[in-house]
Amino acid sequence: MSDKKRTPPDFSQLHNETIGVRAGVRRSQFNEHAEALFMTSSFCFDSAEEAAHGFANAEKGFIYSRFTNPTVAMFQDRLAALEGGQACIATSSGMSAIMTTAMAHLSAGDHVVCSRSVFGATIQLFTNILGRFGIETTYVDMADLNSWQQAVKPNTKMFYLETPSNPLTEVADIAAIAKIAKAAGALYVVDNCFCTPALQKPIALGADVVIHSATKYLDGQGRVLGGAIVGTEDFVMGKVFPFVRTSGPTLSAFNAWVVLKGLETLSLRLEKQSQTARDLAIWLEQQPAVERVYHPDLPSHPQHAVAKRQQSMGGPILSFTLKGGQEAAWRVINQTRLLSITANLGDTRTTITHPATTTHVRVSEEARLAAGITPGLVRIAVGLEHLEDIKADLRGL
Ligand SMILES: *Cc1c(COP(=O)(O)O)cnc(C)c1O
Repeated sequence: MSDKKRTPPDFSQLHNETIGVRAGVRRSQFNEHAEALFMTSSFCFDSAEEAAHGFANAEKGFIYSRFTNPTVAMFQDRLAALEGGQACIATSSGMSAIMTTAMAHLSAGDHVVCSRSVFGATIQLFTNILGRFGIETTYVDMADLNSWQQAVKPNTKMFYLETPSNPLTEVADIAAIAKIAKAAGALYVVDNCFCTPALQKPIALGADVVIHSATKYLDGQGRVLGGAIVGTEDFVMGKVFPFVRTSGPTLSAFNAWVVLKGLETLSLRLEKQSQTARDLAIWLEQQPAVERVYHPDLPSHPQHAVAKRQQSMGGPILSFTLKGGQEAAWRVINQTRLLSITANLGDTRTTITHPATTTHVRVSEEARLAAGITPGLVRIAVGLEHLEDIKADLRGL
């Protein structure tokens, strides 16, 4: 890495758009302008003394790419700056970021309070896997502050939620839940997958840790898997770094380079996608075949006021129910020619899904209906196509 002769900017004073293209850059001795991709498993030393010093200060230099790589470090530093966190560790996927956070922080006998409306694999991880290691999880209604309070036990060590939720875009009051978590002495973890720091900054609202599936909007172009954990220097470097170094759920340099470039367009994409989602939601509310539309920007959304307070925009995801139930929902999906029929989201291409028979099919019918995942529900994750083309493609309405 070359000597820095210029004073670096104070990124905490700069805006998302600027941080997204400028923060975290580390130039090699060649002074390349674009970020370099360091495809190397290990790094060399000039002497035995230097090697010994490197191993004694593993988190500072570059030794072996299981725990330190310059391309990965650039992604970590840029994302930490965007989220307003002190430090970041990248992981191989969003799920490995959640697993790593839990393994770094929890022990047998600990208790977790978790929103019921989180990613399906997150529930499987907490209940079926961490449960085998003596960690118990209580699931609560994310929008009901009392249910968080009432779930607290003397051994509660972690609060976990995702807002807005998938697929109904329910919104949790991040700051209000922070107070309950703090009083309980629990680590407060927020999955910021759907808004990203472009639209919502949980750490400024009181979260201790922000989780990302970089697979979604951080890459934003449907190319690679990745994950990240952002938080305080103490937690991230003191607990997460040693866990990743030892157990290896590491982000590859190549994937880090892809998501690092994704961050450059994050604000542009999220603002545009969120604006199209809001306009589509307003239009859907006027369609006679549509029963109900879920998007945080709609005044009819149950947590509209909270969303306006903590998000700069409603986000790129919306859902709606059709009066004609599953038959009508499948007709709308089957008559599209443009939209991608896939359960994935966070791409430049709009995706359309029938949650009851895909993403939530493993949930019991009773639990599904209780969660509002009715047979007539359709989810759309809006991409970068023109609004009018998306509307026209919903010809089956
Ligand atoms: C996709 C997703 C995850 C898991 O991320 P992977 O990168 O697929 O492992 C976690 N949380 C949310 C909200 C997601 O949408």
